[in-house]
Amino acid sequence: MNINVDKLLSCVDLLHEDYVENKNNIKIFTNKYSFLFQYILKHGLDIKEIKSILKGETRGVYYHNTNEIEVYAFSIKCDEDTLNQEIVFCMYHELRHYFQWNYNKKLADKRTSMKVNDIGYETDPTERDANYFAARMCKKYKDQISRKLNIYPDWSSPYCQ
Ligand SMILES: [Zn+2]
Repeated sequence: MNINVDKLLSCVDLLHEDYVENKNNIKIFTNKYSFLFQYILKHGLDIKEIKSILKGETRGVYYHNTNEIEVYAFSIKCDEDTLNQEIVFCMYHELRHYFQWNYNKKLADKRTSMKVNDIGYETDPTERDANYFAARMCKKYKDQISRKLNIYPDWSSPYCQ
């Protein structure tokens, strides 16, 4: 897996300062085993959640109690350019949840589902807002992101499904 965590994190700098302030709370996992070890130490043995992450259903999580963001890069299976694109999308998506909880509590309180496999996840207003934001920022900064990471994926196609 050819990913550069520092360069990926530098894509956060393109966003407004309200997002950049939480940059040091982002952890990108590139290795399944180090993920398992650290996850169990930190969150306990949540088999259902661990399975969902290993299967690639959960690609990232925002923990509102600590403002920490975890991105599970090892579970994303695609070519290198798309992989990097997806990680950026995922960071922007989770950072939007950070923003919702810290600056738009009215919207954060409208959250209806907590897990990707919950019914209603697709229509959850906080998820729609996070996906919309991530897509909008990827589109807006696609040239800068491409240059920073030296990736040239298809920015017009839907991603992070
Ligand atoms: Zn989300």
